[in-house]
Amino acid sequence: MADRHAGESARQAGRMDRRALVRAAGSAVAGLAVGARGDTGSVAAESALLAPPCGLYCGSCDDFVHGICHGCGCSCGHCNGEPQARACAIRECSDERGVEHCGRCAEFPCTKLIAFCNDPIWFSHGVAIENLRRRTRIGTPAWLAEQAEYWSDPERLRRMLFLLAECKEREARASQSAPAHPNQ
Ligand code: SF4
Ligand code: SF4
Ligand SMILES: [Zn+2]
Repeated sequence: MADRHAGESARQAGRMDRRALVRAAGSAVAGLAVGARGDTGSVAAESALLAPPCGLYCGSCDDFVHGICHGCGCSCGHCNGEPQARACAIRECSDERGVEHCGRCAEFPCTKLIAFCNDPIWFSHGVAIENLRRRTRIGTPAWLAEQAEYWSDPERLRRMLFLLAECKEREARASQSAPAHPNQ
């Protein structure tokens, strides 16, 4: 997620007030309510965008909250979703293996995923493997509903946006001497 929007998003996150956070969380949940119906086991397209193969939840990402991205792999042509997914080694690997997400892969958790989860810059990735375990256990629709409910708390979201702003600043500093890693 290190990109040219890094500095801009960090500033936006810093400026975001509590009311804006509540609105953002509310619209994220509204978007999910349509698709994440555990009874049918199906996940509507807009909800599936928030459940990428790596185990992150895109609904808690600052790019999503600020409308810069509609979720991993979104092909609307007007957001970060598709370019980011195209450059992602985890996405490429799960596509090649034909698994919905890494939790359903025979290699889970592979070295690549462990490294992603323990990235020294992107602390926000730390939940990925445990998210995948939970998602595998309860299924993607139920997991999405659980995540939407969890992140509807504006204080939780505010703390995540704070963390992401810090991660982006660290990535910007680290990238001054080397190109960004394709997973981010
Ligand atoms: S790390 Fe890869 S799979 Fe995960 S959200 Fe980012 S682009 Fe999508
Ligand atoms: S090998 Fe690793 S990165 Fe690839 S799909 Fe399996 S768990 Fe995911
Ligand atoms: Zn989009």
